[in-house]
Amino acid sequence: MGVLKLNDANNGNPVLIVGGGHSGVSAALEITEAVDKKVYIVEKKSYIGGRVLQMYKYFPKLCPPFCGFEINTRRIKSSGSGNIKFLVSSIVEEITGEKDGTGYKVKIRQKPQYINDNCTVCGECAKVCPEDRPNDFNYNMDTTKSIFLPALSSFPLKYSVDADYCKFSACKKCEEACKYNAINLNAKENIVEMKVSDIIFATGWKPYSVEKLENLGFGKFKNVITNVMMERLAAGNGPTAGKILRPSDNKEVTNVAFIQCAGSRNENHLPYCSAICCMASLKQALYLREKNTASSPTIFYIDLRTPGRYENFLNKAESDKNIKFNKGIVGKISEDRNTGDLLLDVEDMISGKKIKFRTEMVVLAAGMYPNIKDDMKDIKINEDVKIDIDENGFIFNENFDGGIFSAGVAKFPLDVHMSGQSATSAALSVIQHNAK
Ligand code: SF4
Ligand code: SF4
Repeated sequence: MGVLKLNDANNGNPVLIVGGGHSGVSAALEITEAVDKKVYIVEKKSYIGGRVLQMYKYFPKLCPPFCGFEINTRRIKSSGSGNIKFLVSSIVEEITGEKDGTGYKVKIRQKPQYINDNCTVCGECAKVCPEDRPNDFNYNMDTTKSIFLPALSSFPLKYSVDADYCKFSACKKCEEACKYNAINLNAKENIVEMKVSDIIFATGWKPYSVEKLENLGFGKFKNVITNVMMERLAAGNGPTAGKILRPSDNKEVTNVAFIQCAGSRNENHLPYCSAICCMASLKQALYLREKNTASSPTIFYIDLRTPGRYENFLNKAESDKNIKFNKGIVGKISEDRNTGDLLLDVEDMISGKKIKFRTEMVVLAAGMYPNIKDDMKDIKINEDVKIDIDENGFIFNENFDGGIFSAGVAKFPLDVHMSGQSATSAALSVIQHNAK
């Protein structure tokens, strides 16, 4: 294990950005394109880009997310200053505030970097690898080899080794197969220590653990999936090559039920609106219709929340007579074991009647759960670090004097577009804080 000390005496201390998703990368670009200051992005995964890379399409334009991400990677490469540094497969372990308020000492643990930059993405290593692993990029709906390319559009573009599944010295087949000397299975973890002037938390979100909603059957019935899984089913580089097939029998679905507020706006789960899931379900209903013209999605909702100009997107979905809307609460889902279909008990809020609804697949609009809520439990911080995390796990009140800011869903539930705006705002705050 090596210990690196990174201090940048010629240029003041760098900025630390925790999280290399859309918000973190956008904030880094905004800072480094405006001022001569170094930024370190610390990312848990082996690549940057975050959750948007797993999306099939953005709303409302219905364009693929990797276009936007490609623009960002081009900006990174063309910035010329080299002021953005990445520490992937890394977590922040310790933040110590300086007593005189001059910033923070940070300790970062970086997992072994088994693959170096020689990797050409030729894939020869994966061909000989005998071990499979669940593919978290596709929400475990398929598998990859233990040595794998995390995502086609990942940055840096290179293979990765899953240490939980690799047999290492008992195998080493990939090392032998690699002609480019890109693999070192003896690599060790690094501890990186640095002093930073500011910290932006851009830690993102994960879908709420909808198995906690026991009445909706996620984890029990194969054909109950989440909205994020639907994105992977629809994506051409997903587990079904872009065909929306249900998990139990790979049948192409036509009759799909979308259930809104799966966890959100519920005092026992997430007591806030997750802001994006109504738009996400409308988007998914529209692309299901496009992919399968015989399809007939039904959206079960309490209220459909499409603020501002997004109202036009709702109008677009409503103008398709095959997309049905039911203002109703789904109290329970059961399964027809013979067919794999699902039976919904719905309380129709307009008629006041209880109805039964049969469907081939259910998509739960899982709410947004801020990662920082769990991440904070693993970071050791001293009393000079003032971070105001609210009861739901968001950093809504930033610490301007202390140089601690948030961007994206670390702040509150936001869509991609507004996450970008919040990143610009955090970048501006950093610049102003350092101009004092
Ligand atoms: Fe090819 Fe080596 Fe990279 Fe595997 S690690 S994709 S064999 S260059
Ligand atoms: Fe796969 Fe690990 Fe063997 Fe390489 S050493 S081929 S990653 S199991």
